Amino acid sequence: MSQRLRRIRDLVTSRIFVRTAFLVFFLGACTQLMLFVRWAQGSGAYVPRPEAVAGLLPVGHFTSFFAWVRGGGWDTLLPAGLVIIIAAIAVSLLFKRGFCGWICPVGTVWELAELVGRKVFGHTFRLPTWLDRVGRGVRYVLAAVILAFLVLVPLTEAIGFRQLPYMWTADVKILSGFANPVFIVVGLVAFFLSMLFSPVWCRYLCPLGGWYSTLGMASPCAVHRDDEKCINCHKCTKVCHALVDVEKAPDRVWAPECDGCMDCVRVCPAPGALEARALGRWRIPAWVWPVLVVGTWLLIYAIAKLTHNWDTTITRDMFKQVINSGLLQQATPSGL
Ligand code: SF4
Ligand code: SF4
Repeated sequence: MSQRLRRIRDLVTSRIFVRTAFLVFFLGACTQLMLFVRWAQGSGAYVPRPEAVAGLLPVGHFTSFFAWVRGGGWDTLLPAGLVIIIAAIAVSLLFKRGFCGWICPVGTVWELAELVGRKVFGHTFRLPTWLDRVGRGVRYVLAAVILAFLVLVPLTEAIGFRQLPYMWTADVKILSGFANPVFIVVGLVAFFLSMLFSPVWCRYLCPLGGWYSTLGMASPCAVHRDDEKCINCHKCTKVCHALVDVEKAPDRVWAPECDGCMDCVRVCPAPGALEARALGRWRIPAWVWPVLVVGTWLLIYAIAKLTHNWDTTITRDMFKQVINSGLLQQATPSGL
């Protein structure tokens, strides 16, 4: 392969490129949703409601997911949310928290903050080890409590929840909530903290990240280190944005924080010392990893779309009715 083609391949499979692409797509979907609401309120041309905005309400759709797992049937009203949850679980289970590492738009914003922080301060600061451990523990406790609640909620209530008109427009309420001054202040504080200490939300608070980290520990694909080939240059540990001590990994990188970003594999100068492998045997080149992550994501989307399990069955007139019924205004003081 020519040098030029290799450069293009490495750019297109770099984390910044893939993550930015997902973030731009998601922002586009949010804009489209606001245009849809304008249409529903009678002040704009019709644009279709984007189903991908279901990602704005992951906990709500997790309720639906567990209802489905417990025999409560598929969500035919807003199935895209269920598909997104299944895709995020599949990607994290197969590729070490791959959803957090390559797709999640929220994580991308905090990682951008970290990049800005590195430019401004020259590096990110590390919390004392004990505080870091406590913080990470908080995330797992949060994740376990919310998970227990979602699993234990009575099935009839879980099914009833997704049938509420409130749920149909929850994405709009969340979006409009972003304009709330309290949210803006909290967002700015989180941005600043991420500049200083790397993404604090992802590392210490996000319950979804806690679940996906746990699933990722069972992943058949992971980074492996060969002690005999390692020249102890410390580059892998230094580059790891998840603060994993890669150079001390006994064989496989088991750390739940690893999101398979491939930075350590790309930076390792010793051939064969650090490789991503499937089932510990088959080498996965660093550029192939994101292709597999994104490919799995898109494959699940395509199957859902082709089998008519992606698009909502709520008609545009029903949405219009709910949006104009006053329910939306009650829940969104700031409006759109
Ligand atoms: S740098 Fe390596 S160990 Fe760290 S998160 Fe990325 S893949 Fe995992
Ligand atoms: S970057 Fe490679 S050679 Fe350097 S310490 Fe890590 S595994 Fe060893």
